[in-house]
Amino acid sequence: MSFSELGLIPEILQAVTDAGYTEPTPIQRQAIPVILAGHDVMGGAQTGTGKTAGFTLPLLNRLARHASTSTSPARHQVRALILAPTRELAMQVYESVKMYSKHLPLRSTCIYGGVDMNPQIQELRRGIEIVVATPGRLLDHVQQKTIALGQVEFLILDEADRMLDMGFIPDIRRILALLPAARQSLLFSATFSDEIKKLADQMLKNPQLIEVARRNMVSETISHIVHPVSSGLKRNLLAHIVRHEDEANQVLVFVDTKFACSRLAHFLERHGISADSIHGDKSQQARTETLENFKNGKVRVLVATDVAARGLDIEDLPSVINFELPHTAEDYVHRIGRTGRAGKSGKAVSLVSSEERHRLADIQKLIKLDIKQEVVPGFDPEPDFFDGEGGRRRRSNPAPASHSAEGAPERSGRPERAPREPRGESRERAPRESRERAPQRSRQPSHIAADGFDFSKPYEERNPAPKSADAGAQVLPDPQKGQRPIAVLLGGLGRKH
Ligand code: AMP
Repeated sequence: MSFSELGLIPEILQAVTDAGYTEPTPIQRQAIPVILAGHDVMGGAQTGTGKTAGFTLPLLNRLARHASTSTSPARHQVRALILAPTRELAMQVYESVKMYSKHLPLRSTCIYGGVDMNPQIQELRRGIEIVVATPGRLLDHVQQKTIALGQVEFLILDEADRMLDMGFIPDIRRILALLPAARQSLLFSATFSDEIKKLADQMLKNPQLIEVARRNMVSETISHIVHPVSSGLKRNLLAHIVRHEDEANQVLVFVDTKFACSRLAHFLERHGISADSIHGDKSQQARTETLENFKNGKVRVLVATDVAARGLDIEDLPSVINFELPHTAEDYVHRIGRTGRAGKSGKAVSLVSSEERHRLADIQKLIKLDIKQEVVPGFDPEPDFFDGEGGRRRRSNPAPASHSAEGAPERSGRPERAPREPRGESRERAPRESRERAPQRSRQPSHIAADGFDFSKPYEERNPAPKSADAGAQVLPDPQKGQRPIAVLLGGLGRKH
């Protein structure tokens, strides 16, 4: 099927051709005709499926009748509202809107918090048809009467599950109350909890359900590998893996806390690997700059927390590394959704210490996949890692040995785990951004590396080391004494070293 069979107007088809898309993705094939026909939609699709174009193209098509070259603000009322949970995601959606609407005289803008409101006010005064916004900042504008929502015909809620996680549902309900009842509404979410269904009931009228991948499923183009490793050796293993990757390959690394985020990026820098970090404590400008530097290849490794990385759309990202496994299994799906996008192949590598085994079991259960495990020689896990498997230790030397999740640790053999926070109204008020985890103290603190390096402390620059490869060579001993092919590290994927 081609885009031209979907009933889109020539201006939009031209933009699609300009973007280099040759055929619609499955979500686009399903969603575009339904949205063009005016139906509400409940869409189950993760990032990387092409869902943004899936809702933006038909939205623009339906808005085209309002397109006007007039300079009068009165001819440019807010007709469509797209809500996204984070600034980064809002920016990305906005970039897509701009790209797909470039041959139409429709105006769009992006409004999000953490920056001065005045430029946004000026923009809104000019008259805008499509507003992409984060919920909090939108309500600020409503309160200051700098935006009028009385003419809104389309509402799109993107990544609704993340909105829930971040405590935005009360804000969404407030916004719903401000919109005309006669409108077309679309809700997209990677997962559908009861709370999301409740919100959908309130927001959508006779919605058509569109689901392209099974819920919580990960793209089939992604290969997964776990390296059991003691927590104290993780950062050296990370540097080792990155060094053995193809130089041209950029890597997105996930950590649990903002503290660990900056410190890990500095650790890599000190070892001659260009790296930067992105987390909720950085200013919006710093986050935008970091992201740009990563996107245009100036930075090879980006270390990120879940919140900051949400929705990042980075083309051709070949691998994602979980420095720590996420506490919530769904976050694994979100994290690795940064790779293997739009049919490309990707690699999800996880460095797992003994105390994270229960998280691994939860993830495997969620994604219904036995993830291959492989010890990188010289980077052994804690002695109890394989407890519950008869105490057998497996390693990938000489031939990469792996064990399946059938041998994954049993619950009884797990270290104590923190009770999982309930999902729902009770915690909606605490935005996730502020909940980026503080360092956790555990039986054997995972943030203390074997050499005493404490990841829980914010980074303080003492004697900035030169960013040369030499600096790295002095500090990081190569436990391999000679490089091992990356194929051994990464499960025989045949990558060059
Ligand atoms: P999304 O799931 O909306 O975040 O999109 C993921 C990536 O797929 C983005 O980089 C889009 O530019 C790209 N994309 C969207 N639709 C298509 C298509 N029909 N063909 C090729 N790439 C696409």
